[in-house]
Amino acid sequence: MNKRFLFGSAVKQSLIYMLLMGLTIGIAFVPLSQKFLGLPVEKVYTVDFFAITIISGLFVGGISYFILKITILARLKDFSENIESISRNILDYQMGQISSIQECKNCYVKINSNDIIGALAIKYNALIRVIRSEFYQHEIIKEYSKIISKTLSIEELNKNTTDFLCRNLDLLGIQIYKTTANGKIALSKAKGIHTDLTNDMEKSLLDILDENKIREIKGEQIVEYGTAKVKPQFICLFPLKHFNKEWIFVTYSNYYITKERKNLVLRILNEYKIAYESAEIYERMQDMAAIDELTGLYNRRFGMKRLNEEYKRALRIEKCMCLIMLDIDHFKSINDTYGHQAGDYVLSTIGKILSESFRSEDIVMRYGGEEFLCVLCNSNSEGAIKRAEEIRKKIEEFDFIYRDHKIPVTISGGISILDMKKEKKTPEELIREADEALYTAKRTGRNRIITYAPL
Ligand code: GH3
Ligand code: MG
Ligand code: MG
Repeated sequence: MNKRFLFGSAVKQSLIYMLLMGLTIGIAFVPLSQKFLGLPVEKVYTVDFFAITIISGLFVGGISYFILKITILARLKDFSENIESISRNILDYQMGQISSIQECKNCYVKINSNDIIGALAIKYNALIRVIRSEFYQHEIIKEYSKIISKTLSIEELNKNTTDFLCRNLDLLGIQIYKTTANGKIALSKAKGIHTDLTNDMEKSLLDILDENKIREIKGEQIVEYGTAKVKPQFICLFPLKHFNKEWIFVTYSNYYITKERKNLVLRILNEYKIAYESAEIYERMQDMAAIDELTGLYNRRFGMKRLNEEYKRALRIEKCMCLIMLDIDHFKSINDTYGHQAGDYVLSTIGKILSESFRSEDIVMRYGGEEFLCVLCNSNSEGAIKRAEEIRKKIEEFDFIYRDHKIPVTISGGISILDMKKEKKTPEELIREADEALYTAKRTGRNRIITYAPL
């Protein structure tokens, strides 16, 4: 019998020890039975008696082994099969043959022994729970990463993140607050829940950011949930920091968010902040491609794209649309008198005045060197004339001061109007009409606004 057979297998070792024990008892039984039972020597020291006692001893050893097998070894076999089952599941999951580790069957062992084996089963099940939870979190994060990898804008990222968290954590609602450039807090996105940001709430949100620790509030706050008012049982606040950016995610739920789930949220938020960074870079690049650097207005290429989009929308809903074409008067002589840089200063200041003068849905673009095209979506002729006049007056009265020189600046404008209910002009026709009206304004003395009138 080699060493490996003897010491390599505990089961075989036990079997050999039990048989040896049986054999020893069998041999010992011969002199003991003579001494203590008083059996006659001639009957005891016979081959038959020896054979019977040794066979009985071996039989006891065999039975002991059988008992070991149906009690301890059977449970250990269970263990072995369960471990094999979970390993196979993990492997299948890693190979992509099963989509979720939750599908793992027979992963837990039955706790049917009140001793070291039972304790082992409890510990084994706890270990499996940790492994499963780790895989579950991994799956969720993988799914989230997949969703946000297709997200380009910050708005879209916030929407997808709030939707994802609500769905996966079974929340009543969620809010994302973010610090603004002036150090205040503003709501970036909300889903399900509506609350007003009071001064007290803003202060406590700032405190949580300072503390940088998750905070939980047991349902005291009444919030708007759809059309009803509810009192969520748990509110959890997750602060998040990334370089100079700070957010607070507020979750509203009717169940306690366990440590495990909090950890999952933190891991998701870790992905969020990186995706936010990418979305911000993407938006900045989009802006760079769309914005004229000097005036901060849309450049002609992007502005015309937007004009065509708005035109289609106006066509669909049969709305009015007005164009104002503006041109700085005698701009060449401003350049000649005060220098090109002074001209640039005038252009950038007019850019600011124009962007302040229109609503966010209107489109304002630098159409050419010192020409601007403004598209008023959903505005009638009176509204457009009034707006153009206000701008003309504002520019005439504005103090353009460059290196202590006060530069007198005026602007002329031409307006064209499209009432989709009455006629269907193309964007090109509209621009031509505005341009013609502008030409009339220039011809008739400048610093005035003329509305296109067909001959
Ligand atoms: P009018 O009243 O008839 O419009 O006269 P004007 O001088 O404004 O028109 P003109 O078309 O003769 O001159 C436009 C000038 O605008 C010529 C060009 O050098 C200047 N310009 C165009 N783009 C820029 C710019 O980005 N910066 C500066 N400083 N000047 C510019
Ligand atoms: Mg000009
Ligand atoms: Mg011009």
